[in-house]
Amino acid sequence: MIITMKKGVTEEQIRNVVQKLEQIGARGHVSVGEFRTVIGAIGDDAKIAQLPLEAFPGVESVMPILKPYKLVSREFQEEYTILNIDDVEIGPRTFTVIAGPCSVESEEQIVSVARAIKAAGASILRGGAFKPRTSPYSFQGLGREGLKLLALARKEVGLPVVTEVLDVRDMELVYEHVDILQIGARNMQNFLLLSEAGKQDKPILLKRGFSATIEEFLMAAEYVAKEGNSKIILCERGIRTFETATRNTLDISAVPLIKKASHLPIIVDPCHATGKHDLVVPLSRAAVSVGADGIMVEVHPSPQEALSDGPQSLTPSEFETLMSEIRPLVELCGRTQRQRRI
Ligand code: PEP
Ligand code: MN
Repeated sequence: MIITMKKGVTEEQIRNVVQKLEQIGARGHVSVGEFRTVIGAIGDDAKIAQLPLEAFPGVESVMPILKPYKLVSREFQEEYTILNIDDVEIGPRTFTVIAGPCSVESEEQIVSVARAIKAAGASILRGGAFKPRTSPYSFQGLGREGLKLLALARKEVGLPVVTEVLDVRDMELVYEHVDILQIGARNMQNFLLLSEAGKQDKPILLKRGFSATIEEFLMAAEYVAKEGNSKIILCERGIRTFETATRNTLDISAVPLIKKASHLPIIVDPCHATGKHDLVVPLSRAAVSVGADGIMVEVHPSPQEALSDGPQSLTPSEFETLMSEIRPLVELCGRTQRQRRI
């Protein structure tokens, strides 16, 4: 249920409504927008519907949210969510480029990539320390050591860092080392992990599962938001189809569809979507054109020697080309691609 409060509503009036919801075991998520304050009532719908909410002082209207996802829906929040990570802004005014190797492999590798992507204009560094590999015999990531190297690169280069957290047991450790916590495609429906991510105060980069519908994807985001963390960046990274020419199939229409359905930012990962480095530029251009809020791209100093995902990784020089290819399009779409907001 969405409870829209009147203009000039007092804090006490908001508190009264939230307390009433809590009395019946529901929760009130308050969202203070530019023009109005709304309270998302989450809990047993039948019980909430019986409350005489319209009669409460300060309440303007009460409307059911028709979608199964509530807090992440546009019905709940009309305005786009804008995230600020250090001084990097993610949202409708910017086009944020996240880049870095699939896996952190060594100090030399991660620091050199961090320098290169920063120089080319990326604003966030990525790198996997815990890797979800299809084969148990493939490189599984450097783990704790990888996190240390990421934190070191962050310090050396001054870019915020994102890495994947594979398991609830690693949440605290990963949290300490990075600015954004990634939940990967394979874990998109790991509900315990999603809920744990929802208890953190750092942004969550949530990747779409390769067999997840858009609704399931948004329900996964809802798991995070429900626990109190609405700092979520969605990532379309391709889904599994009958097509075998590419690793996955980039569902580009998911971007505008999700923008309609949700206020959360959404970025595109053209590397995992295709598995092919030479498709990264055209698909990144597509991402800008359909209104994505950014891209995440794999970059490796020497892709042929990468311990994971070499064929879909760009060299630093290819990454530079990518950045100059998309720059005019980003501007055309009325966004800025500044590395730093200030
Ligand atoms: C990754 O970003 O390195 C990754 C493993 O992605 P996905 O979860 O989308 O496969
Ligand atoms: Mn990868």
